Amino acid sequence: MEDLIIDKASPATRTIAAVKKSTMKALVYYAPGKKSWQEQPKPVIKETTDAVVKILKTTICGTDLHIMKGDMPEVASGRILGHEGVGIIEEVGSSVSNFKKGDHVIISCVTSCGKCSFCKKGMYSHCENGGWILGYMIDGCQAEYVRIPYADNSLYPIPAGADEEALVMLSDILPTGFECGVLNGQVKPGDTIAIVGAGPVGMAALLTSQFYTPAETFGATHIINSAKENAIEKIKSLTDGKGVDTAIEAVGLPATFELCEEIIAAGGHIANIGVHGKSVVLHLEKLWDRNISITTRLVDTVTTPMLFKTVQSKRIEPKKLITHRFKLDEMIKAYDTFEHAAREKALKVLLEN
Ligand SMILES: [Zn+2]
Ligand SMILES: [Zn+2]
Repeated sequence: MEDLIIDKASPATRTIAAVKKSTMKALVYYAPGKKSWQEQPKPVIKETTDAVVKILKTTICGTDLHIMKGDMPEVASGRILGHEGVGIIEEVGSSVSNFKKGDHVIISCVTSCGKCSFCKKGMYSHCENGGWILGYMIDGCQAEYVRIPYADNSLYPIPAGADEEALVMLSDILPTGFECGVLNGQVKPGDTIAIVGAGPVGMAALLTSQFYTPAETFGATHIINSAKENAIEKIKSLTDGKGVDTAIEAVGLPATFELCEEIIAAGGHIANIGVHGKSVVLHLEKLWDRNISITTRLVDTVTTPMLFKTVQSKRIEPKKLITHRFKLDEMIKAYDTFEHAAREKALKVLLEN
């Protein structure tokens, strides 16, 4: 339709129309504390394995706030942020075979070629050609359009009629909470779990831990406000002095990791999810004989298809994590709300195009 109008237009109008079509609005990071919602060139297909996706819904991650704070100086000035969202395929490269123009898709926060040695092991997070690059090493999804490399392996199809708001939670937080927290924490039926950190990822770990019907999940059956009470004493008293079978660290601070070391039961698992910027004291003098395992992981998103089914069947309802809704061009306002999550009582902010 647009092409037809351009063909008939005078050369001058044609140029204006072409300029209009080749730009979009996006959230650009410049330096710690400096960002702008502005016109940017619309992404184009660079490799035959790429897709360009028009964003329908996106969100802001705690990781984006880390970038904005300057915790990740490797992020280049001028980078478009964002690694979560759902959208509609605008264009595909010639070797993309799983998707076509018009398909609705979930964008995975992890880009994976599906062919390298790490991908073959299911460790997409360390893909030699991708991994977590979106909104970090390459331009991301807090924009009207995004280029997705290795589209066949990095996008997931959305069937007609699905609740796309809920599916935004499948880009990152649900697989992150599940893989890094619940799976690595080896949660089993009857276990006691402490989730340290009640942000979106902690809540996603809470939702997905329910697959294993834990006996008690502190933070759910018992909410402990560590600012107001002694979390260690409280957890010890709730577990007959033993501590918890799984402690999931979903903050990324030395104090919260050390709290996990204090509350873990003999034979327990400390599963780290938090993005840490500082070194943490490992109390081996207390833990060396306690049969503890400590795991770290970057989400691989290998469980996304399984989690998709649990969302579709309403076994879990991640939509409940959405507390605020904005139009896409209210991006700066949405950042302001999410930056003051405690004051605004915000978990996930949803932006709609
Ligand atoms: Zn994220
Ligand atoms: Zn790979």
